[in-house]
Amino acid sequence: MYLARRLDKLPPYLFVGITRRIAELRARGEDIISFAIGDPDLPTPSHIIEWMCQAAHDPVNHRYPESKGLPELHQAIADWYEERFGVTLNPDKEVLPLIGSKEGIGHMALCLIDPGDIALVPDPSYPVYFMSATIAGGETYPMPLTEGNDFLPDLDIVPDKVISKAKLMWLNYPNNPTGATASLDFFGRAAHFAQEHDLAVCHDAPYTEVFFDGRKPPSFLQAPGAKEVGVEFHSLSKTYHMTGWRIGMAVGNAEMIDALFRVKSNLDSGIPQAIQRAAIEALHGSQDCIIEHNAILQQRRDKTIKVLDEIGLKARTPEASFYIWAKVPQGYTSINFTKKLLEEAGIAVTPGIGYGKEGEGYIRLSLTLPDDRLDQGIDRLAAWHRSF
Ligand SMILES: *Cc1c(COP(=O)(O)O)cnc(C)c1O
Repeated sequence: MYLARRLDKLPPYLFVGITRRIAELRARGEDIISFAIGDPDLPTPSHIIEWMCQAAHDPVNHRYPESKGLPELHQAIADWYEERFGVTLNPDKEVLPLIGSKEGIGHMALCLIDPGDIALVPDPSYPVYFMSATIAGGETYPMPLTEGNDFLPDLDIVPDKVISKAKLMWLNYPNNPTGATASLDFFGRAAHFAQEHDLAVCHDAPYTEVFFDGRKPPSFLQAPGAKEVGVEFHSLSKTYHMTGWRIGMAVGNAEMIDALFRVKSNLDSGIPQAIQRAAIEALHGSQDCIIEHNAILQQRRDKTIKVLDEIGLKARTPEASFYIWAKVPQGYTSINFTKKLLEEAGIAVTPGIGYGKEGEGYIRLSLTLPDDRLDQGIDRLAAWHRSF
């Protein structure tokens, strides 16, 4: 079989070894507690499910969906952005529903990157930004996110010869994996930088509704000039615990939205319509579930940070997202410390190196496991630490 050369450029999946080891240990009957998966453990709120069930019975929704998305869904997304961020969107031209935001993130590179072009990608980051540029035949340039710079990229140090070939800059706040947030001021600087150098900004923002202490993170589109240079990807996955239903959206610059639709309309036939109906209900209905979910996550965050602190794993307290980005002890790499936790404590975490070179020296803990498991997990960590 001849496989296309572009596949050779995709790096091997870094977590293969660890994933296999977890499976082995579990098959032997070991109880492994996983802080490794960024997927809400709590169910989709029932009012949203009820709506989906009703829509599933309606034969109108059994046929090919409206590929661009139901006009009512476009409107619901625009209304939600207005309500939440004070951002006004044209529902027809500046809104595009997606089969989960990952789908749109992947396809966006095909709209902006030709062979030889560069995508500026944060390091560490969600791997899809790197992969999609690579699949499109482009190159990537890593923008380090370091603790010293509050896990924001330093735009001033991107070399001119990189900028001249750059077509796209990825940003992601609240950030996976570091848990960092960005201010509106930073977004303004990013929009200005993009305008100055004629490149597009794609802001990936699935965690704006996962926030603590009542501090709501901003949208990139609130920044002056943002809509002239960029789009924002958002999702119902993390906001309403709907990862399994696959629905998200791109909003912002009309030209980029249109380009994304032109690519997508040739590759997929839209989102199952009963799920679009459920999304309308989620966006228009009561938002109380967000506050309830965040209260639960905040308790988990505080308990976990306290134990990490006691056992000497240094971590900043995240203001948003469900991730804790902790430093591994001196003398360890992110991979061998992850293995040590797994073998000695039965705790699974994600090694930072899986998110890029700058992730070395860190592990990521996700707070998306049931409270009783989380409690067991942190007790185990404390006991493991006392044992040496
Ligand atoms: C979870 C996640 C996504 C993908 O969300 P879907 O809408 O479920 O595809 C995108 N970006 C980041 C950073 C994420 O953590």
